[in-house]
Amino acid sequence: APKIIGLTGGIGSGKTTVAKYIEDCGFPVYYSDDRAKDIVNDNEDLKVKIKELLGEEAYDKNGLYDRKFVAEKVFNDNDLLQKLNEIIHPAVRIDFEDWVKRQTKYLVFKETALLFELKLNLQCYKSILVTAEDNIRIKRVMDRDGKTYREVQSVMEKQMPEKEKIKLADCIIYNNTNLEDLKDQTEKIIFDIE
Ligand code: ATP
Repeated sequence: APKIIGLTGGIGSGKTTVAKYIEDCGFPVYYSDDRAKDIVNDNEDLKVKIKELLGEEAYDKNGLYDRKFVAEKVFNDNDLLQKLNEIIHPAVRIDFEDWVKRQTKYLVFKETALLFELKLNLQCYKSILVTAEDNIRIKRVMDRDGKTYREVQSVMEKQMPEKEKIKLADCIIYNNTNLEDLKDQTEKIIFDIE
């Protein structure tokens, strides 16, 4: 079985950029958020469970997950959001395990914003944290998504503090400068894993 390396970071840290560099080096990356978006449509068992929780309207007339409806329904209802996550997260975990079985490289990477929050690091051989100063991350997300400073900051405040993540991570990439430096750090770390 391949060794699983968890890759994480808060909003705007640069974890997706790092994941792309890892793929450029020839290693497979599982993108948890992207897969979660796919399986709510592809996994029939999951669809049934979501409809049971949120109602038939969670899917539109074409049978596709209605992201807007769901977002509105769970907005300000943390209990419901938690229940939804308790349905989706295990399905992603199973999807990941299936994916790992199909891989042939000795190292595979799992990109997820919630590596430490969901204790997924316990299933990993090593964890990599991408981090940068708050202001830099906020600025990058403002440029990328056209969001306001306050909007990005409010997402950031809901995430696990960097201090705690730094304590839990095996390897840390400090993404405070340029992309060349980010690529260098990424390559050093992945080719040092043994
Ligand atoms: P999110 O969790 O919000 O999806 P992320 O951690 O995946 O964020 P990225 O999308 O990789 O972060 O990076 C955020 C933005 O910052 C992107 O537009 C990316 O191109 C840019 N970026 C990342 N690192 C650097 C860097 N060192 N120099 C310049 N731009 C960068």
